[in-house]
Amino acid sequence: MTNTSSELTHNDKNFCVTSSLHTITLDQLLNYVEPVSIHERSLDILNRFIKNEHLTAVAIVDAQLTPVGLMDRSRITEIFSKPFAKDLLYKQRITELMDAQSIVLDVHTSVDDAANIIIDADMRHMVTGFIVVKNGIYAGIVSGHALLEAITLRKQHELYFLAHYDQLTRIPNRTLFKDRLHMACLNSNRNNKMSALIFIDLDRFKLINDSLGHGYGDQLLITIAHRLTDCVRESDTVARLGGDEFVIILQNMVTEAHVEHIAKVIMEKIQEPMLLFEQETHVTASLGIALYPQHATSSEDLIRKADIAMYHVKKQTRNNYLIYSDVLERDRDERLVLNNALNKALERNEFSLFYQPQIQLEENRLVGVEALIRWHHPELGMVSPAKFIPLAEETGLIIKIGEWVLREACKQHVRWVSQGLPPLRIAVNISAKHFHQTDFCHFVQLTLADAGIDPRFIELELTESMMMINVEHAIDTMNKLRALGFKLAIDDFGTGYSSLSYLRRFPIDRIKIDQSFVRNISTIPANEAIVRAIMALGHNLGLEMIAEGIETIEELNCIRSHNCLEAQGYYFLKPAPANELESWLHLFDLSTPKLTEQKDRLLCA
Ligand code: C2E
Ligand code: MG
Ligand code: MG
Repeated sequence: MTNTSSELTHNDKNFCVTSSLHTITLDQLLNYVEPVSIHERSLDILNRFIKNEHLTAVAIVDAQLTPVGLMDRSRITEIFSKPFAKDLLYKQRITELMDAQSIVLDVHTSVDDAANIIIDADMRHMVTGFIVVKNGIYAGIVSGHALLEAITLRKQHELYFLAHYDQLTRIPNRTLFKDRLHMACLNSNRNNKMSALIFIDLDRFKLINDSLGHGYGDQLLITIAHRLTDCVRESDTVARLGGDEFVIILQNMVTEAHVEHIAKVIMEKIQEPMLLFEQETHVTASLGIALYPQHATSSEDLIRKADIAMYHVKKQTRNNYLIYSDVLERDRDERLVLNNALNKALERNEFSLFYQPQIQLEENRLVGVEALIRWHHPELGMVSPAKFIPLAEETGLIIKIGEWVLREACKQHVRWVSQGLPPLRIAVNISAKHFHQTDFCHFVQLTLADAGIDPRFIELELTESMMMINVEHAIDTMNKLRALGFKLAIDDFGTGYSSLSYLRRFPIDRIKIDQSFVRNISTIPANEAIVRAIMALGHNLGLEMIAEGIETIEELNCIRSHNCLEAQGYYFLKPAPANELESWLHLFDLSTPKLTEQKDRLLCA
């Protein structure tokens, strides 16, 4: 017990309150004191107290070593100091001198229970202590002092733990993290080695938390904390800053490559499927890394820089890592400006939709268009959706934007029909946040009913990663949408989890092969192999396939040779405003040069 007190004074990484202190029993506080037989003389007992000044009490036992009472020092010395001290010489029976109501507890009684029993007995023997038995036989005495000390120590541990550890995941919290980071920087100064700080933020955690419940979210955070701890050495620190933010301090790093390697291991580990409460989910994380002393002069500066790197990943691709550089900092300032402007864009009517044709290759027919949002800011000019969509997702504005896009696409559909064009299928990109809203199905149904459009003319583009957040919920929503008559496509296929085993379970109509595989497909064998594999898979599942991002005739010929029947890309037309698309259609009817190369005429479906 005495050695544990030293743990309080230093920041031992392995400190853990769940250790012995939590379950401490009387066994661990036991002090064996030779008992007194009930037949002994009181004078002998007095002698024993005189010889051992630390002794506060002795137990009286019978012939079977069963305790029958406690004799405490003050009691016997009181008798001794009184005129009738002759009682010590056999006049009075020992049973009359001892406390017959002594407290007898089993060795396995916990410290907490012992404290409660003492309190219930009006603090009886808090000072002298109480008798402890093992299997009913006297085993020793525990002093009230030892009990108090154990409880106080435990409380101190708990307070220390509360102040320095995260209560949910039981890993270091922000306070301890800052302390450790400071120490790591000092160490780096001393030994000329590098320290790395990795900021880890789970992607779309809020969505998981909202859709699967907070209990689920908590378990997920605990699992992540374990996984992160598994990725690093004992001497490194894994801490939780709050919410879904974790940090890792790596010490004694020699090369940047080594840090990168660890970052990759962390990402892989986080991505492993997670089965909690019989619900499977997949999470990814965005990692921002800053190095000391390369990027920062102090631990505070290091935190700021790792944070900047992480935010950069968040706003770009997510599920990635990035090492800090000065460029990122400039970019962050730009982001703030962008965010302010974005908040006003809807009310100022700065958004518009562009449309990009989707061509059926066998007959060169226009089968649909994809609606792609554009933001024209009076000062910033045209802002790419790749820039502002992730930002809108982060702030939640994406839901309002998504609603606007669907309404606008519906209006356009109606306009085209009223212009005498055949009804065109319009593909609309759906964000993860919007899709996981509980009233999403209701919203899309209502919007189409308002516009008076048959849902089969609207195709909702979803991404693999948004479905993997909560597989069962996604399948459920997708089934509802299909029952309402909507078409469903998986966008950017192959870039997410490539969860081929899940594909079978998702009720979808179409796969959109991501443009990164289409790019240079005719010259990069790996891309061709991937496209071939995706095509085979889609065909097996009876899905329709479309290749995105076709820019050249070579790419077109190549995907055509793999029996991909639909395509979309700059080769046909860059996304264009509705009126330009109309002219294009018109021009095309008069035979567009590009498409004449494709021999046939392009017909509206
Ligand atoms: P996406 O849904 O995969 O859209 C295809 C992107 O590829 C579009 O970029 C399009 O302009 C571009 N593209 C099409 N053909 C070619 C080609 O031949 N070569 C190249 N290099 N690019 C081509 P865009 O419009 O910048 O949109 C980027 C992403 O932003 C979209 O990827 C989509 O994820 C998102 N997005 C666009 N509009 C919306 C929207 O209304 N709502 C939501 N939630 N996301 C949107
Ligand atoms: Mg799309
Ligand atoms: Mg795409």
